[in-house]
Amino acid sequence: MNDDRQKRNVMTRKEYLLKQKKQGMHLMGVFPAQYPKEILWAMNVVPAEIWDPPLQTTAASAHLQSYICSVVQSGLELVLQGKTDILDAFLFPHTCDSIQNMASVIFDYIGTQKPCYFFYHPKAPYGASAREFYRQQLRELAENLSSQFGPLDPNVLKEKVEQGQYIARLLEDLYQLRAQNRLDLNNVAFYELIRRGEYLFPDAWAPELEKHVKQQKEAGKESSIPILLSGVLPNPAELLKLLDELGVLVAHDDLLNGSRRLLIPGNDFKDPFEQLTESYFAMPPCSTRGSSVERRRDYLLRLVETTGARGVLFNIVKFCEPEWFDIPNLQESLKERGIPSLVLDTELNQGLSGQLSTRAEAFIETLNKV
Ligand code: SF4
Repeated sequence: MNDDRQKRNVMTRKEYLLKQKKQGMHLMGVFPAQYPKEILWAMNVVPAEIWDPPLQTTAASAHLQSYICSVVQSGLELVLQGKTDILDAFLFPHTCDSIQNMASVIFDYIGTQKPCYFFYHPKAPYGASAREFYRQQLRELAENLSSQFGPLDPNVLKEKVEQGQYIARLLEDLYQLRAQNRLDLNNVAFYELIRRGEYLFPDAWAPELEKHVKQQKEAGKESSIPILLSGVLPNPAELLKLLDELGVLVAHDDLLNGSRRLLIPGNDFKDPFEQLTESYFAMPPCSTRGSSVERRRDYLLRLVETTGARGVLFNIVKFCEPEWFDIPNLQESLKERGIPSLVLDTELNQGLSGQLSTRAEAFIETLNKV
């Protein structure tokens, strides 16, 4: 545990997962990005999401084309280095072709001994049968999981879906407070908190979120530069630290592991499968769910308007096809409206090169004059 964590008495991801395992919970290694975690929770399965394990890629390169994103490279590397022994199974959502290919390498070629589950969610534009298809996928996943983890109790699922909705409301509050600069968290600490949801069970995550909602401060008087952050995931070690140093407030985000899958408007459905279905179709637009560029543009513009962001920083993982397809059009739309934007092409766990830092600093400097 580093000093900061010790002071806050916060367990690391590894410590938390080991503790859960000792207490009899099951652990599921989940690859990005969207999946019905409430079903896993209801079966006493802790999802341990695999986004950016801090590893040097050596073995994975032999199995993959050189132009594949580092999320997939490092995920496969984790498996090949045998660092997934603690896990009971893997779940592969149908996020993009690269995740599909990795699923195939792990399941068909390496032949992992661990059970592998697949979750196919529909892509936009959604046809008339999309909702029914999604409901079927949910039920199928629950049925497949039940052979390993026991039958799904509908009452427990309902409870977990309600818990998921409660967490979504807390996150909405946190994002709103953030936009008003009333959260006592800098960029690094805010995204550390958000990303703890990638492995904490809801009973552990919700109280942390509640604590920060309650600890709101007076609207920030210090002069900070509000921006939006878009892309796949924040790079906590480098980019967010640099933004903190430059006096920048990430007032909101359009991140694949952030607002795009976390901010889900609540409704009150009696049937938990119905609630999960409605939540899926109500999520903000995302390149990995096939949303149109127009919907993504409108979402970004609305966030710029409601948060007063002075610019948009796209932090895009190298070779992330779904994101790169949309970027030129999104940048063009922002430019037409006089909203500055910058695209950074980054690799996981490689820090920010001097050149990328300089470009980010120059961009923030221009926002100072906006
Ligand atoms: S970074 Fe992009 S290409 Fe890579 S797994 Fe994520 S969505 Fe797929």
